[in-house]
Amino acid sequence: MNNVHDNLLVIKNKIQKIALECERDPNTIELIAVSKTKPVTQITEAINAGQFSFGENYVQEGVEKIHYFKQMMPDTPLIWHFIGPLQSNKSKLVAENFDWMHTIDRFKIAQRLNDQRPADKAKLNILIQVNISQESSKSGVAAQEVPDLVKQIITLPNLNLRGLMAIPEIDNNFDNQLYVFNKMQQLLQSLQTNYPFMDTLSMGMTGDMQAAIVAGSTMVRIGTAIFGARQYL
Ligand SMILES: *Cc1c(COP(=O)(O)O)cnc(C)c1O
Repeated sequence: MNNVHDNLLVIKNKIQKIALECERDPNTIELIAVSKTKPVTQITEAINAGQFSFGENYVQEGVEKIHYFKQMMPDTPLIWHFIGPLQSNKSKLVAENFDWMHTIDRFKIAQRLNDQRPADKAKLNILIQVNISQESSKSGVAAQEVPDLVKQIITLPNLNLRGLMAIPEIDNNFDNQLYVFNKMQQLLQSLQTNYPFMDTLSMGMTGDMQAAIVAGSTMVRIGTAIFGARQYL
């Protein structure tokens, strides 16, 4: 299970199989390799196996890795996704280094990222994190508050609002997973009437990837199945 190259092959085949079974084009589902807590040696293995999109949860750790690969592999076009909770005092590091930000849950952070995005960089791609299981402990905006946040974010010129993201409550039952992910898909669809440029649904992890794809996910964020279990010190 620690051969990153083989694990990537297995996951990609799985995505393809699930997509074809629910009559989706496998190419509409992007695989984000979640490399949080994992060393650059393992990320290098993934890059050598053709994986170019990575997700990181911790600002400092992510920025260190981004700088490392900019130096070591300057010609490899890696795409870095920030997928963790963000404190506003660290927003500058995200604005300066990442390509995607998945966890926007309030306008203030979006505004800071917009103001801090360097002029020579492409717009920062933005996803709104939705608290779809309505847990009080989880971050994310309630579904009914999303339209107002969308209206505010689209006024910011250095951000490119692309869609929605969710981390549902852990539930091992496929039908329950599907129910929650379908709510996300319906929410995105309702927004697409007015905002057709919102084309991204970031949902699905190692434990619930299948239901997420069936419900229409366009970005799955996979860590454990690629890099093995994480150890927190
Ligand atoms: C850690 C993490 C993942 C990856 O989870 P796995 O279960 O290891 O696949 C995906 N998304 C977010 C937001 C995470 O924090």
